[in-house]
Amino acid sequence: MKKIGWQFDNTYSKLPKNLLSKLNPTPVKSPEVVLFNHSLSKEIGLDFSEIDNEKLALTFSGNQLPDGSETIAQAYAGHQFGHFTLLGDGRALVIGEHVDKNKKRYDIQFKGSGKTPYSRNGDGRAALGPMLREYIVSEAIHNLKIPTTRSLAVVKTGENVIREKNLEGAVLTRIASSHIRIGTFQYACISKDKNDLKALFDYTIERHYPHIRNFKFPAIELLNIVTEKQIDLIIDWMRVGFVHGVMNTDNVAISGETIDYGPCAFMDTYDPRTVFSSIDYYGRYAFSNQPSIIKWNLEKFAEVLIPLIDTDSNRSIEMAKEVLKDFDTKFKKGWFKMMRKKLGLKGEESKDENLITKLLSWMKQNKADYTNTFCYLMDDLIQKNKTFENEEFNHWKQQWKNRSKLYGNSPENSLQIMHEANPLVIPRNHLVEGALNVATENNDLTKVKELLKILKDPYKNKTNIDYYQSTPIPGKERYKTYCGT
Ligand code: AMP
Ligand code: MG
Repeated sequence: MKKIGWQFDNTYSKLPKNLLSKLNPTPVKSPEVVLFNHSLSKEIGLDFSEIDNEKLALTFSGNQLPDGSETIAQAYAGHQFGHFTLLGDGRALVIGEHVDKNKKRYDIQFKGSGKTPYSRNGDGRAALGPMLREYIVSEAIHNLKIPTTRSLAVVKTGENVIREKNLEGAVLTRIASSHIRIGTFQYACISKDKNDLKALFDYTIERHYPHIRNFKFPAIELLNIVTEKQIDLIIDWMRVGFVHGVMNTDNVAISGETIDYGPCAFMDTYDPRTVFSSIDYYGRYAFSNQPSIIKWNLEKFAEVLIPLIDTDSNRSIEMAKEVLKDFDTKFKKGWFKMMRKKLGLKGEESKDENLITKLLSWMKQNKADYTNTFCYLMDDLIQKNKTFENEEFNHWKQQWKNRSKLYGNSPENSLQIMHEANPLVIPRNHLVEGALNVATENNDLTKVKELLKILKDPYKNKTNIDYYQSTPIPGKERYKTYCGT
């Protein structure tokens, strides 16, 4: 029988004890595999091809842990909607770090695995619908070529979880390059042992950015790197119309991966104020607020790094300010670069800003679908759409066509640039919801699997996509999402 290939090398569990709790998952009644990501398991050097579903279910429910695993709940804190709170893995456990043949290290985490010392009043469990949703959306984000945590498996527990009504319980296996968050640093910073922050800092550098180990000011370099990574990440989200929905500091990964798929959703109709989360009353995490919120979060990160930058705290503050002072300029530059790609433009012209903002304001005024507008411009919108039979839009299109010829750009080249930036399909809310309903109500995974298949190649696949480009029925656009479900 082939070996599965687990190579555990658990390092986080050796960090100071204040930063984690060692405990086992709570066994579940009758585990059953719902989804398993064989292509991801291959990518990370694991082979489950000869393992039957019963054994898979035992492993990925936490009932029978693989040899070499060592389960821990990580402590963290965070600013949630601006308010500082102590948190931690309340319903998740890292079962170990798997290292693949290329020495790439992955946290293997179970979400929904039972209570931990950080559960507060929660039950430590997760419901099937939201775990399937995380699987679909995180894999979609990965296929959209955006850094993210990924989903390896969803296993039903055979137990109910009580929410507004009784729901089927499930455990999701999440793969991440680590689960270190801004919030982990915030927790270490207020720890009763002053050495905890330095221990976490050294660990993070070794694990993620060993090349800055010997820099004169490694803490400043870390702030720099995390800032750059987060700028790139948020620009990528905005490129595909993604609204994360809960950009609390505990949901910002130091690795630069998208993490926490609770209330996220993709925008259909273009509106910069788009919010889906049922608890985001004031639009703190609205689509167009994402840049300013990440900047706010990075300021919180800078604050906890102060003692690690220099022994003179005034000097530390000055240096940290210096890193963040260019945030707006850098973000704007990166965002325009991304928007030029969406329009297939080469070079930079001073009039580009006007061309781009004109298109966006036309989209907003005419309630145009964000993704489909760019599909239309690439001639890849399968269904006819009257929105684009519009004089103002035609006028804009002429200006755009004239601009795109500059810098020796051929129409073919322009189209190629656009195809790399604009997805033809995204996980649209009404389609995801439809697929999840059939899965949870009728125990039928067909629609979920079809959706996963279509979303596998979102920039190229043009077969059978017309249904997936359909926008919500008018009046049904007011989609709501929920945290911690
Ligand atoms: P999230 O909204 O997933 O970022 O979770 C915020 C905090 O609530 C984290 O500390 C979670 O571990 C915790 N949490 C969410 N759901 C549960 C649950 N069902 N039981 C215990 N803790 C939970
Ligand atoms: Mg979270």
